[in-house]
Amino acid sequence: MDDEKARELRKLPSVSTLLADNDVAEISSSIRSEVATLVVRDVLDQARAEIRGGGRVSTAELVARAVDDLRALTRASPARVINGSGVIIQTNLGRSPVSIQTGSAMRQVAEGYVALETDLRTGERGGRGSVIEAQVRALTGAERTLVVNNNAAAVFLMLSALCDGMDVIVSRGEAVEIGGGFRIPDVLRESGARLVEVGTTNRTYARDYAAAVTADTAALLKVHTSNFAMIGFTATPAIGELADAAHDRSILLLEDAGSGCLLETSHFGLQHEPTLGDSLDAGVDIVCASGDKLLGGPQAGLILGKKALVDRIARHPLARALRADKTCLAGISATLSHYLRGDATESIPVWWSISRSIDWLEGRAHSWARELGGRASVVKTEAVVGGGSLPGSTLPSRGVTLHTDLDASSLAARLRTGPIPVVPRIVDDRVIVDARTVLSDEDESLLDALQHALN
Ligand SMILES: *Cc1c(COP(=O)(O)O)cnc(C)c1O
Repeated sequence: MDDEKARELRKLPSVSTLLADNDVAEISSSIRSEVATLVVRDVLDQARAEIRGGGRVSTAELVARAVDDLRALTRASPARVINGSGVIIQTNLGRSPVSIQTGSAMRQVAEGYVALETDLRTGERGGRGSVIEAQVRALTGAERTLVVNNNAAAVFLMLSALCDGMDVIVSRGEAVEIGGGFRIPDVLRESGARLVEVGTTNRTYARDYAAAVTADTAALLKVHTSNFAMIGFTATPAIGELADAAHDRSILLLEDAGSGCLLETSHFGLQHEPTLGDSLDAGVDIVCASGDKLLGGPQAGLILGKKALVDRIARHPLARALRADKTCLAGISATLSHYLRGDATESIPVWWSISRSIDWLEGRAHSWARELGGRASVVKTEAVVGGGSLPGSTLPSRGVTLHTDLDASSLAARLRTGPIPVVPRIVDDRVIVDARTVLSDEDESLLDALQHALN
C-alpha cells in the first residue's frame, strides 16, 4: 500500500472518538450503546475500504454518515408522504390510504386481544371474518367471502383449489401482466392449471371460449386488463354471455376483477367499471379483487361468490398460508361499513379524491397559491385513478406550480426529502402538486412543506 493511503487510514478517528462527536452522541443517546458502536464501526470499516480503493473520506463526512445510519434505525418506515402526483391509487406510495375510522379500527385490534375466532355469545370457536361475509353479502349478493393477503394470493388460491390439473380458458387479450411480477400465464401454471388461450389479442367472442371447452376444462377465466386499455377494433363478450357459455357446459366462470369496485364510477365522470355485484349478477361463480385499489381499504384479496366453491377454496391447504391477519380483517370490515352507511365518497380517501368537483379543486389550488404569496400559480392538470384501475380514464384537476430558480428535478428532490416529504409530478419541466390527491386534512402540512422547499 502506498504511503498516501496509509496516511489517510491513520487519520481516521477511532470508534470512541466518532461516538463522542456531539451530533453522533445526541442521536446515540436514544439507542443502546452496543448498537451505536456497531453502526459506527461499520461506518469506519466502509471508510477504510474506500481509502484502500483510492478514495478519501473526511471526518465531517464520517459524522454525517454515522448520524444518517443511526437515525435510519429508529425512523418510522415506510415514511408518511403527501401525494401531490395526481395519481390517486399510486402503487409506489402504498395504494389506498384508509379512512380515519378504518385506521382506528385497525389500531384498536392491533393493540389488544380480539374475538377473532371466538363467538362471544357462546364462547365457542367461531369463524374468522363472519361479519365481513354478511357485509359483502349485503353489498354484492355473494353467498360467501374469504379474505386473503392480497388479490394475487386470491387468484392463485382460487385457481389452485378449483382448477389444479385442468384447463382454464383465457382470452388472448387478457393473458396479461399486471405489474410487480403478476402475469396471468405464470400464475396459472404455478397453480397447477393449464392455460388455454383463445381468440385474438384484440377480439375474442363467446364462441371462441365455447369451442375450446373439452372434458379437461375446469373454467373460463375473465381477467381485468387493469393497467392497459385497448382502443379501436376490439371485442370482448359480455359477462352474461360468458356465464351462459360456461354453465351450458357445466364448467365454472371465474373472474379476476382487479380493483374491487363497489360504486358506479360513471357518476364521477369516469368510464363505467362493473362492480363486484354486477359480476355476480351476471353469473360469475367466483370473483377475486384487491382490498387496496378502488375498494379503498388495506391490502387484502377478496374471494367471493358461490358458497360451495368458496368453502372448497377455504379448505385448501394454501388458504392457511395466505390468510389475512386481524388488522386486515378489521380494516376491510370498517371500510365496507362506509359503503353500507352510504358515506364512502366522503370518508374513503380514494373516493373522496375521485369525487371532488373541479370548482372545489380550483378553490383549493388558489388558496394554496395565495398562502405562498407570488411564488406559486394555479395550473390545469389531469389526474388519474391509477393502480391499474380504469386505464385511460382521466379526471380534470387543478394544482400549483412553484416558482424557483431550481430545475424541475432538483425541486422535486427537495420536496421529496424535506421534513414532510411531498411527491409531486413533473410535467413539461414544471413541478406540479395536484390538489386532487392531497388528502382532506393535509393542507397545512403541505403548505409548510412547500414553504420549506421555497426557502
Ligand atoms: C392489481 C391486480 C392484481 C394483483 O392484486 P394485488 O392486490 O396487488 O395482489 C391481480 N389482478 C388484477 C387484474 C389486478 O388489477
